[in-house]
Amino acid sequence: MTNQTANDLAFSRAKASIPGGVNSPVRAYGSVGGTPRFLVDAHSAYVTDAEGREYVDLVASWGPAILGHAHPAVVEAVREAAGHGLSFGASTPGETELAEIVRERVSVGDQKPIGKIRMVSTGTEATMTAIRLARGYTGRDLLVKFAGHYHGHSDSLLAEAGSGVATLALPGSAGITVETASQTLVLPYNDLDAVRAAFDEHSERIAGVIVEAAAANMGVMAPDRGFNRALSEITRRHGALLIVDEVLTGFRVGSAGWWGLEASRVVPDGAGWEPDLITFGKVIGGGMPLAALGGRAEIMDYLAPLGPVYQAGTLSGNPVAVAAGIATLRLADASVYRRLDEVADVLARETSAALSAEGVAHSVQRAGNLFSFAFTGETPRNYDDVRAQEGWRYAPFFHSMLDQGVNLPPSVFEAWFVTAAHDDAAVSRILQALPAAARAAAS
Ligand code: PLP
Repeated sequence: MTNQTANDLAFSRAKASIPGGVNSPVRAYGSVGGTPRFLVDAHSAYVTDAEGREYVDLVASWGPAILGHAHPAVVEAVREAAGHGLSFGASTPGETELAEIVRERVSVGDQKPIGKIRMVSTGTEATMTAIRLARGYTGRDLLVKFAGHYHGHSDSLLAEAGSGVATLALPGSAGITVETASQTLVLPYNDLDAVRAAFDEHSERIAGVIVEAAAANMGVMAPDRGFNRALSEITRRHGALLIVDEVLTGFRVGSAGWWGLEASRVVPDGAGWEPDLITFGKVIGGGMPLAALGGRAEIMDYLAPLGPVYQAGTLSGNPVAVAAGIATLRLADASVYRRLDEVADVLARETSAALSAEGVAHSVQRAGNLFSFAFTGETPRNYDDVRAQEGWRYAPFFHSMLDQGVNLPPSVFEAWFVTAAHDDAAVSRILQALPAAARAAAS
């Protein structure tokens, strides 16, 4: 008992009242082992745990904190909004303002894929609604997703690939019926032949294809050049919708998300297409529970109250969350994205150098300012590739970094998230920790 830390005690107590002691599974450190850090404070690039230990943070609340934690202007906007009431259950001018900001931001030249936008509270709701909308709009039942892509935990998205290419999927979790899972086709990422084969077999039934704009939930994995554009061409040809999930990449990898990087040719060979629907989450709420789906007005108008596809939410467009989102997006200007890119460049390069110095085979996985490392000498292109890595090397790497005061995502399958508050001092603390962590990964 005497050796128990404040984190140990907090975890034991939590486990008595909360399944696994956590409200979202990855927080339990299942894949890296040890006691999760219970956090009590987050400011700029740092978080502090229940023992009062401070860490340079590379989780950033899993993405939202692009400005760093508790940016004073965002906190002030939240305070101001909260002073006028926490929730109205009625429309507010702020929701329209945020909708206008998003429509304006997610545009490149005369390409404006967000005709209309509906706000919800979580990324899961956004993708779930987008799928219902795709089915309602097309009158079809099947959905295509890619193995290793995460779109939240709604039933039809927690499906696992069966064997073969265009087979119908199996449930990916207990509690999901075979009937539900079998309406999802799970295909290998970056495999256009598999997509064409699925459409050849089920053309009349596929309502839509959902894809992470750039994959970042099996580690980071950018799409092959032109992959998203090809998906757009194939779906259009077959009368299906392309749902681009930018919950993680949206407003993080660039002002107009990953689609914006492709449309503006920052990412080569990707221009000349538009998603039918896009989902947002994380950054759009600046750390508060807010997410959204947007797309062609003609499709979005299929949502209630105009159309037959039902969707609703007591807290949708919550005024405090909207205030945080507006403040965050207003502050996230070109200089913020420049800093995110700079920090990502340095950390990706130096982590790779540290691993190489210890002879640890790895692939640097990059998509804009998102990055992670796969412990393999090959460059993975899909989920099977990434699962074949020496993933066990990550746990000792992670714990060495943690012991040295750096909070990394507690899984090799997660992206590292930088913020604009990572100044030179924060970056140099991370760099100092790398040699020992790379040694731990090597052993
Ligand atoms: N889509 C993507 C690409 C995500 O990364 C996530 C969450 O990490 C979601 C959807 C689900 O969002 P939420 O956790 O807010 O439900």
